[in-house]
Amino acid sequence: MSTRRQENKNGDVSIVIPMYNEKESLPELMKNISETFDKCGKSYEVIFVDDGSTDGSFDVVKNMYIEYAGRVKALRFSRNCGKSAALNAGIAAATGDVIITMDADLQDDPAAIPGMMAKLKEGWDVVSGWKKVRHDPFGKTFPSKIWNLMTSLVSGLRLHDFNCGFKAYRRDAAKNLDIYGERHRYLPALAHWDGCRVTEIEVPHHARKFGKSKYGTWRMFNGAMDMITLLFLKKYMRSPMHFFGILGMLFITIGVGILGYFGVQWIMTMEMRIRPLTLLGSGLMVMGVQFISIGLIGEMITNSLQSRRQYTIRERLE
Ligand code: UDP
Ligand code: MG
Repeated sequence: MSTRRQENKNGDVSIVIPMYNEKESLPELMKNISETFDKCGKSYEVIFVDDGSTDGSFDVVKNMYIEYAGRVKALRFSRNCGKSAALNAGIAAATGDVIITMDADLQDDPAAIPGMMAKLKEGWDVVSGWKKVRHDPFGKTFPSKIWNLMTSLVSGLRLHDFNCGFKAYRRDAAKNLDIYGERHRYLPALAHWDGCRVTEIEVPHHARKFGKSKYGTWRMFNGAMDMITLLFLKKYMRSPMHFFGILGMLFITIGVGILGYFGVQWIMTMEMRIRPLTLLGSGLMVMGVQFISIGLIGEMITNSLQSRRQYTIRERLE
């Protein structure tokens, strides 16, 4: 594995929990987690990432830090930065061989953790939770179904539920993810593209007990935009010219064809005609040149980002 075992000071499992104004849920959540791990006898650490809560959630975490000494870690953002950022920071701080992410609102049930870990042991790198029976309003479950179908088609990974916050990762699979923006919505797709073996298992899902959801339906649109960006980056990050260059050449070729036709006509009849089609021809040529220029700028940017990770190591013997 790419990180040495002796670095894993805190043992078997790290549980990363992003939270934003969830103070009522936290004590019960921690109690459920500790009961689950007492039963299965694995060592664990819980990493709470407070994403700029204003309801005193972090004070609750401070108490748990004392009560569950050695098993609780916490990070606190200075403002609300979003779930993706919280997951990123939590995973960076995790030291377990297995990294589990779950929501703080008691909708995910820690009792499912042993099942997820068993699945990892079968050789999967990522085990994603599937909220088959979901306790959320229709206005949320319906768009989510469409979203999942779309993501399945685009990513080439067949899953029912990409956006479930409850997931288990082999350590490196989680650490290799670059989570920002709204990327938390399709982490299984990112992992899949990164060469990970991804599967899903059914997990129980509870209705929200306290507080309210932080995500409205409209947020899905941000996610959809990110999906387009992601697709583009996946395919053309290393060679933007392959996208913009082809488009540019196509436009220029059509433009040259149109203007060439009118040019020949002009020479033969000695009469210049400006027609809508000639305007289209000039327009296409200008746009073609612009596309090629954008492609070149893209190439320059990609070149200056040479330090970006371009490969993923699955195993390492040291
Ligand atoms: N969350 C977060 N930052 C945000 C929004 C949400 O850390 O800006 C956390 C939230 O506290 C919860 C998890 O992300 O632990 C999922 O959020 P929520 O339950 O509101 O989403 P839903 O289950 O309704 O999709
Ligand atoms: Mg929730």
